[in-house]
Amino acid sequence: MSTAFYSHAECRLHDMGTGHPECPQRLDAISDHLRATGLDMALDFRDAPEATLEQIERAHSAGYVLQLRETMQQVSEAGRPRALDPDTIVGPGTWQAALRAAGAAVAATEAVLGGHAENAFCAVRPPGHHATRDETMGFCFFNNVAIAARHALDVHGLARVAIIDFDVHHGNGTEDIVAGDERILMCSFFQHPLYPYSGAVPKGTNMVNVPIPPYTRGAELRETIDAMWMPALEAFRPQMIFVSAGFDAHREDELGQLGLVEADYEWMTTRLMGVADRHAQGRIVSCLEGGYSLSALARSVAAHLRVLAGV
Ligand SMILES: [Zn+2]
Repeated sequence: MSTAFYSHAECRLHDMGTGHPECPQRLDAISDHLRATGLDMALDFRDAPEATLEQIERAHSAGYVLQLRETMQQVSEAGRPRALDPDTIVGPGTWQAALRAAGAAVAATEAVLGGHAENAFCAVRPPGHHATRDETMGFCFFNNVAIAARHALDVHGLARVAIIDFDVHHGNGTEDIVAGDERILMCSFFQHPLYPYSGAVPKGTNMVNVPIPPYTRGAELRETIDAMWMPALEAFRPQMIFVSAGFDAHREDELGQLGLVEADYEWMTTRLMGVADRHAQGRIVSCLEGGYSLSALARSVAAHLRVLAGV
């Protein structure tokens, strides 16, 4: 049994323009670093399939998916990008990339639940955790993690899954989709105040939202996680863990002002694996969200993967 690494060349086709931090080079930085360090040898590389609309509609309304598909097809035919908001731009390759990103999360869930992988990481873009049930937002179109979590619950009949979000930004889209769904426990921390300026007041009793002041460092954050996330996770006993793995809380990342380093991502991953081993037969599916300093992103993903793969 191994750690599966899902990605697809089409995830690079989504391009929001020169200078946009959520760029195709993020995936190159990760794969280059994995090869340079030899960590690629410990991973099972797999091509992500396209998600079906039925899978996507477990987290999004059918009307939203239809409208987004029409917009993306128009952009694709016109060959010119279109900004849906100042941060979120549709280009000719966006639809394909978005289908592969959501498809990776679903396929990873299938593989882990089917016993074909011990755990899995999806190196995909566009990211997903700001996409609400009915709205694109903050570089996100489809909420990959929410789609995968609902797949595990609705298709495989799991009763309880956890979603962990350690991106520096609040996962408002995921909260919008899963708040009130008592089959899901969502634990997150996020810098506050920071985009999207939400999360301080949780939207449901199944949310553990932990706002963190700017300039907080790893040691302090670890204490907070042990105090806030761990008791909730142990009591909930998730049968599977999904991770919105954003690496923009790294101290080298310019989109946030938190002070995490690679060792903190290693520590968090170890904590989550402990919960997964105790309650979920080790089942973890982790999906890339943010992380915009290319070097810090690649090093942090490697730290996360070394723990997942046990090397
Ligand atoms: Zn982020």
